[in-house]
Amino acid sequence: MKVTFLLFLSCLFLFACQTKPQKKQIHYSYALIIHGGAGSMDTVNLKETDQIAYKAALDTALQKGISTLASGKSSLDAVCQVIEYLENNPMFNAGRGAVFTHEGKNELDASIMSGLDLSAGAVAGVRDVKNPILLARKIMDNSKHVMLSGKGASEFARENGLEMADSSWFFTEKSYNNLIKAIDNEKLSGLTTPPLPDYKYGTVGCVALDQGGNLAAGTSTGGMTNKQYGRIGDSPIIGAGTYANNKTCGVSATGHGEFFIRYTVAHDISALMEYKGMGVEEAANEVINNKLTPVDGSGGVVCLDKNGNYAMVFNTSGMFRAYGNSEGQKIIRIFK
Ligand code: ASP
Repeated sequence: MKVTFLLFLSCLFLFACQTKPQKKQIHYSYALIIHGGAGSMDTVNLKETDQIAYKAALDTALQKGISTLASGKSSLDAVCQVIEYLENNPMFNAGRGAVFTHEGKNELDASIMSGLDLSAGAVAGVRDVKNPILLARKIMDNSKHVMLSGKGASEFARENGLEMADSSWFFTEKSYNNLIKAIDNEKLSGLTTPPLPDYKYGTVGCVALDQGGNLAAGTSTGGMTNKQYGRIGDSPIIGAGTYANNKTCGVSATGHGEFFIRYTVAHDISALMEYKGMGVEEAANEVINNKLTPVDGSGGVVCLDKNGNYAMVFNTSGMFRAYGNSEGQKIIRIFK
């Protein structure tokens, strides 16, 4: 009798533990989230006309991605379409508009990952490929490798019929002036290590969930202004700047790449969901605010879980970002 009563009490206790209130999770048949870089932008240093222009660009990108998903196409197609558009827009640090290296060149990095089978493609340090995200996709689909770099990557791009571009395509006065400023600051401070506290990252990224329940994530960047010696950041590194797994979430990051590599940010968010049962927002918060912030690793992430619920978490004053889903919900924001 006593044993039965004790058993009853333990069952009651276990039941109580399991039914602790959970945040309501909605399932969207498709959803898409975008970032255009995090950084020190605020209402003072980003003019109102620029705010309007950035929001319009994010809106166009979002509409393109959402209509691709609505037509039944794959999340990989939506991610490529959105990032290709942002790469061609000189306002962002990816493709056209990429930042300059110390030597005055543009060296581009990008990656893409499918949450369905964990296949991935990445490219690092290319100078003459118009849309690095399309090259990352080709590497994923048409090669036996995950990551190609430099001249070899360009050769593969040519062989696979991708559009090439010369250095004038990537040149923008804004990016070039930022290089001059960075070199001057370096001379003044005697330090060779960027970034300055007011650094603005302009990398672009996108995560999509399609009607088949498949997640995909992609990221594209010119890296960081004044980078040297063939420096590669987190954006083309699977698990650091990009990750997707249908079991958990898709993630694209922007920020000081060295920290995102060392803390394997994108995969860590997925791992917290998989092994600790965290929700996407909780996991993204844990990594950005509790792991990166204390070590001065600045930046942010956009994420979607397997149901299309989002997280947009950053420890800078702003992050260009947008989200939309199958229910017609639309969010476009810059500041905290
Ligand atoms: N994460 C990129 C890098 O370190 C920079 C950015 O987000 O803009 O290369």
